[in-house]
Amino acid sequence: MIVNFILLNQNTNLYTKKVQDLSFIRQMRLIYGEQSGNCLCSRSLEEEEVKLMVKRISGKDSLWNGIAESCDITDKSFASFTSELNKMFTKYGFKTCIDKISFLAQAAHETGGFQQNKEEKSSHASSTSTYKGRGLIQITGDLKDGEYNEAGLYKKYADSVNDQSIISNPDLVSENLHYTIDSSGWYFARIKKVPKWSGTWSSYDNIRKKKVAYFNEGLGKTLLELGPLINQDSKYFWLQSKIINGYSKKHYLEKNPNGWDDRKEKFSLIIGLFKTNTECINNPNKLDFTDKAPWMKIAIEEAYNAAFIKEKKRPVAAMVKKYHNYNNYFDDPNTPNYIEDKEDAWCASFANWVLAQANQKHIKSPASQGVLTAEGTNFIRVTEPSFGAIVLMTNYRKDTGASIGKGHMTFLYGKESNGNLVCLGGNQGDRIKFSPYKQTGVSSSRKVKINGVKVTIEQKFNGFFLPLNYTPSQIDKEIEIINIDNMNSSLSGSTLTNTSDSNESTL
Ligand SMILES: [Zn+2]
Repeated sequence: MIVNFILLNQNTNLYTKKVQDLSFIRQMRLIYGEQSGNCLCSRSLEEEEVKLMVKRISGKDSLWNGIAESCDITDKSFASFTSELNKMFTKYGFKTCIDKISFLAQAAHETGGFQQNKEEKSSHASSTSTYKGRGLIQITGDLKDGEYNEAGLYKKYADSVNDQSIISNPDLVSENLHYTIDSSGWYFARIKKVPKWSGTWSSYDNIRKKKVAYFNEGLGKTLLELGPLINQDSKYFWLQSKIINGYSKKHYLEKNPNGWDDRKEKFSLIIGLFKTNTECINNPNKLDFTDKAPWMKIAIEEAYNAAFIKEKKRPVAAMVKKYHNYNNYFDDPNTPNYIEDKEDAWCASFANWVLAQANQKHIKSPASQGVLTAEGTNFIRVTEPSFGAIVLMTNYRKDTGASIGKGHMTFLYGKESNGNLVCLGGNQGDRIKFSPYKQTGVSSSRKVKINGVKVTIEQKFNGFFLPLNYTPSQIDKEIEIINIDNMNSSLSGSTLTNTSDSNESTL
């Protein structure tokens, strides 16, 4: 039965279908190779996931809502958009996840989340030019006297697709969905390259040498050919962005590409959506969850989907609502925007939702200390730490030593070299992220008002717990040393420092 299921549904996400025997899945992958993979390397985009992508990055349920002047595209359907993207990927040789994802991230930035595909009128003379920017990755003509009035790339593209009407009517590139997408793939895969930065640049020669050394593997490569390098090192996504924007001779690394924060965020969100960090068969740095606590794969995928974005912003606000709803916390239809209205603790809602997705024992409760109430029925206290174990933190009054019935519920991911527990959880610094917790003594403290009196509350480690009936594997018991900043950086797509705040929740 199960074999048939997998063969018939080669593109199904095995984890959401709750197939639990990880070693079985691993064997299947070996037997059927990439056919049983779920990542974009081995398949086309599907309309539903394109809709989800647009929703996640723009908050919108539809395409091309830009003002008419900057978005005159005629076919605004998701079906055509998806099919044209797939055709373009095939035609220009976008094969792996990272090829497609880096393109989609750049295009998402250039088009404001796939809402406009033509340079807006602005104070720049170039914005009224005949051959101004058009398409997903805007192609322009040649600049002359501050305007793009020489056909330039439009001429090259017209030749490439054998349609000279593009030169007399450049709006074809923005009105016609096929040309909007095809021209951008053509630009990405055939036209735009990283310079080789050869020769000498008199006063800027030191900068030239530094660039040659730092981006050595990318020299002479097209934007598309940078893909595999981006899998190895995210600095090549920075370079790809810089090449699209224009990389001045005078600069080395001191100036970020235009819209850098937005590009990074879109890149992280799209990577999360397509599970490139957990599923991609061509990603040498993907995380391996084989024979490990199965809910941790769910937790890390949610962390990638949240892309280090804070709880009130898109798409995390909707995710938090999803966790709370599962735990029956926001059932009141009168408060649909509750999470936007009022901050609330969501660590336990996240943890219980995650356990539920992996078919593990859990409780439906937004209260972290519910773990204690359900000890013996849904959770079991263990002395030995293991990967994915629930770490329960409890808040105590400093004056009386009594628990105030609140704290934090999170999952053990590893340890810091100083011995702190490294935990992956929700509502840590208002995010899903990695944070340190002390296993002995006071982990953190704060002053709160209880019945009008200010008291000091100390948060301390209470214990490790597992879902009842889960037995840790040998691999689970090997606790790895983790660098928190590196892990959080991989969630956000950029290099972060000082991300070790816990900001524990208090429910
Ligand atoms: Zn892949």
